[in-house]
Amino acid sequence: MDYAATVIKQAEIDKYLSGGADFIDDAAIVRALESGKNPDPKRVRDILAKSLSIETLSMDETATLLNVSVPELLREMFSAAAQVKRKVYDNRVVTFAPLYCSNLCANNCAYCGFRSSNTVEKRRMLSAGEVKKEVEILAGKIGHKRLIMVYGEHPSTGADYIAETMQAAYSVKVPVKSGRGEIRRVNINAAPMSVADYKKVKAAGLGTFQVFQETYHRETYAKLHPANTVKGNFRWRLYAQHRAQEAGIDDVAIGALFGLYDWRFEVMGLLSHAHAMEKQFGIGPHTVSFPRIEPACNTPFATRTGHEVSDEDFKPLGCGLRLAIPYAGMIVTCRERPAMIREVIPMCTQRDASSRIGIGAYSDRDGGQETERQQFMLSDSRSLDEVIRELASMGYITSFCTAGYRCGRTGDHIMKMLRSGREGRFCKLNAILTFREWLDDFASPETKRIGDELIAKELSEVKTRMPGEFTDEMWTTLNDYYRRVASGERDLCF
Ligand code: SF4
Repeated sequence: MDYAATVIKQAEIDKYLSGGADFIDDAAIVRALESGKNPDPKRVRDILAKSLSIETLSMDETATLLNVSVPELLREMFSAAAQVKRKVYDNRVVTFAPLYCSNLCANNCAYCGFRSSNTVEKRRMLSAGEVKKEVEILAGKIGHKRLIMVYGEHPSTGADYIAETMQAAYSVKVPVKSGRGEIRRVNINAAPMSVADYKKVKAAGLGTFQVFQETYHRETYAKLHPANTVKGNFRWRLYAQHRAQEAGIDDVAIGALFGLYDWRFEVMGLLSHAHAMEKQFGIGPHTVSFPRIEPACNTPFATRTGHEVSDEDFKPLGCGLRLAIPYAGMIVTCRERPAMIREVIPMCTQRDASSRIGIGAYSDRDGGQETERQQFMLSDSRSLDEVIRELASMGYITSFCTAGYRCGRTGDHIMKMLRSGREGRFCKLNAILTFREWLDDFASPETKRIGDELIAKELSEVKTRMPGEFTDEMWTTLNDYYRRVASGERDLCF
């Protein structure tokens, strides 16, 4: 039996179809984008008001926003997108690191350096012991608390391998100045699985399951993903998040690789995905990613797709997503240049830093980041310390919070908290506590100085937002926890 046939469970696709159709209605997307042309400013402002009340937008409303080109209206959209983000998540930016575990892949995606036909790629799969070495650097030297572990799709790196390497990451405890460096949340970016396999990775302590559809445009999808591969099955991938939710994984993440097809169509595809998840489970995506395609080793297609997203379009693209799915976290990564990240960070909730994406690249400083071991190239290679300093100077507090998941604030529970703005209060308090931890354990003197100033400002802001948003009890607990964290206690959270 070929590999694809052993992986794909047709019954786990069919059960979600409606009259044999999936939730991507190409014709409806094209129609909505067409009828949204030349939008009326009053209608645009009404849609912004709806998004600001943290309601998911309709297809027509989103298509209207995606057609805005008047500079003044675009500025209003950017401002609304930043307000939405603040309303739901306050001014914190969660940070994480990618950990690429393997570049073995049975698929053959035209744009990817890991594709099976790329003979230049140096293949490697980390053992559990090698994963631990990577985590010792990430958690013990840099100070990360949250990882996204990344896997290709291959018989050797299925659910058992993923669970084993996740557990290896959690097992690392490195003595640092106060307490220990450790990973408190492991998210994964992996190929779609069956319900049974999702249960295995959930049992290993999975935080968020992330998989990108790459492109929601069927025809393009079929061209880029050969039909005889697992990934060639559009619907197996399309319902990956549904099956994960069915397996009890509350936090699932969606994304598209922008640059494979028209960016407006892809935004509408992501929104269709969020609608379908909300309809089926009452829970939308935990995060949305909007990476742009980057050059990759021996992969000429990646630099001439014909649908490249310009810098000019990137901000309206992110803004459209932010406004359309206002409760979702949004992730920008080191694929983007620092200047572009600064442009979009007001509407984003997460970013990575000090990232290395070669297999074994954190502990193998000599050769780990060579291009033949990477899926694509990065544009922001700054250290976590530099990134945190910059964010702090822009007024954003870096959060290492992993409390929501560990305190049961996931799934439909967190959806209600996000829509009402209540989760944002926890975000703020936990950001203060975890930022204090990191500043004391890992920061350079200059970053510590800027970070200390920011924390003082945050504490006084909490005080001024009492009693409306923060209660006396929260304030008392915050002060107690803060004093204890500053004295070396660790992992206190709301
Ligand atoms: S995009 Fe993913 S599935 Fe496709 S070749 Fe690359 S690693 Fe494999």
